[in-house]
Amino acid sequence: MSYTKSLLTAARSIAIEQADMPETIAPDHIRLRLAAASICGTDMHYFRHFANAGFFLDYPVTLGHEACGYVENANGHDFTTGELVAINPVIECGDCENCRTGNINMCPTKRFPGSATTKPHIDGFFRDTFDFPAKCCHSVSPNVSADHLTFAEPLACAMHAVNRGKITETDRVLVTGCGPMGLLATVAAVAKGASVHVTDLKRSSIEAAKAVGAEQGFVIGEDDTETLGNSFDVVIEASGAPQAYNLALDCVRKQGTISILSLIQPSDVPINLHLNALKEVLCVGSILFTREFTDAVELIEAGSVDFDAITAAKFPVSQTQAACELMAEGRATGKVLIKPE
Ligand SMILES: [Zn+2]
Ligand SMILES: [Zn+2]
Repeated sequence: MSYTKSLLTAARSIAIEQADMPETIAPDHIRLRLAAASICGTDMHYFRHFANAGFFLDYPVTLGHEACGYVENANGHDFTTGELVAINPVIECGDCENCRTGNINMCPTKRFPGSATTKPHIDGFFRDTFDFPAKCCHSVSPNVSADHLTFAEPLACAMHAVNRGKITETDRVLVTGCGPMGLLATVAAVAKGASVHVTDLKRSSIEAAKAVGAEQGFVIGEDDTETLGNSFDVVIEASGAPQAYNLALDCVRKQGTISILSLIQPSDVPINLHLNALKEVLCVGSILFTREFTDAVELIEAGSVDFDAITAAKFPVSQTQAACELMAEGRATGKVLIKPE
């Protein structure tokens, strides 16, 4: 059976192919039809550089690790044909000390689709049909929107950063950066009952954050960030800008916490590390998620979050290049979705 597949062949170059699925499915896999996928910042690094964080792709690969799908062939596993499932893209070994203690994000041999760190690379989800391990697929309650369910993976990452920051309902939280991850961090902190304030360079992104529960927003370079003060219990850094980390150090209260959700790249911008010491700031990193994938699916199932307000645009698989270009230009507010042909 032939299906439409996007393939990153070089930096900024995505080919569209008609490919054939193998006749047999690996025993531990099920076959899925794409329901919806979304573009991640990681995908954008590969799109721009054919690499991410210094890891180069060895050969062309299909991007995409945020998706949900319809079961086309359950292959003997406990799913109904046609049912919508959430997909956890982390294929952990299940055996190592980290996996046994629930820290699957720290598994040294975990595999991940559309990533140079997994060798040989596994094709990601920006294609119409794919096989994936049954253990990574999760049944959801009926009537969940596929366009919302694709948020499960990035929302789980945001929830992990919120949990790493130990955010509770009594906390005043600042989220620096309202790209897709900052918006989802806002969703996650609001779900904990916290009072959330946000910063971004674009007013439209601030408005999107307010649509999902942020109380107040500050446009960097326009609004007076002095008025933010220095009393936030937790700051979630979601912009990736070193300047935002300095803002976080200014705005966090003494003995408060900065939870880093972004991948701040090495740069020449000096970081005011003395404030880390003088204010006894607890700084925690965050990568992927552990048990939060289930929490994310549950929050999406509850239907209380307006994910449409943080969705920028939708493109079919055959227009994956245009979808990535829109993201690369920085014009999109919220997530860009990839849909089946
Ligand atoms: Zn992602
Ligand atoms: Zn492991």
